[in-house]
Amino acid sequence: MKPQHREAHTAVVFQALEEAGRVRLRWQEDHERLDVDDFDETQREEIARLAEAEGVWGLIAEFQCPLCRRWKHSESVWAMIGQDDGGYAPQFKRAAIHDAQKECCDDCA
Ligand SMILES: [Zn+2]
Repeated sequence: MKPQHREAHTAVVFQALEEAGRVRLRWQEDHERLDVDDFDETQREEIARLAEAEGVWGLIAEFQCPLCRRWKHSESVWAMIGQDDGGYAPQFKRAAIHDAQKECCDDCA
């Protein structure tokens, strides 16, 4: 399958599972302070300004355990400035789709 076809396929499968309440992607505010020292010196001021303006977020992919019905973690990435998925969405959707096939979560196993 071509990469763009694979991505489209992932999106369709994810949407069907999402509508069934089995998977979800959600944003959560990242309360860890963004460490601007991780960035190039010339970018730090701009990064700090953007973080202030758009917030710092985590993107989380989850699946619902068919047994206990709790939402369980599939994938997550933190310290994202603004709610731009940075290209993580297809990979995260695939992880949630994969986990949604499980009979139950690790806690129920
Ligand atoms: Zn469970």
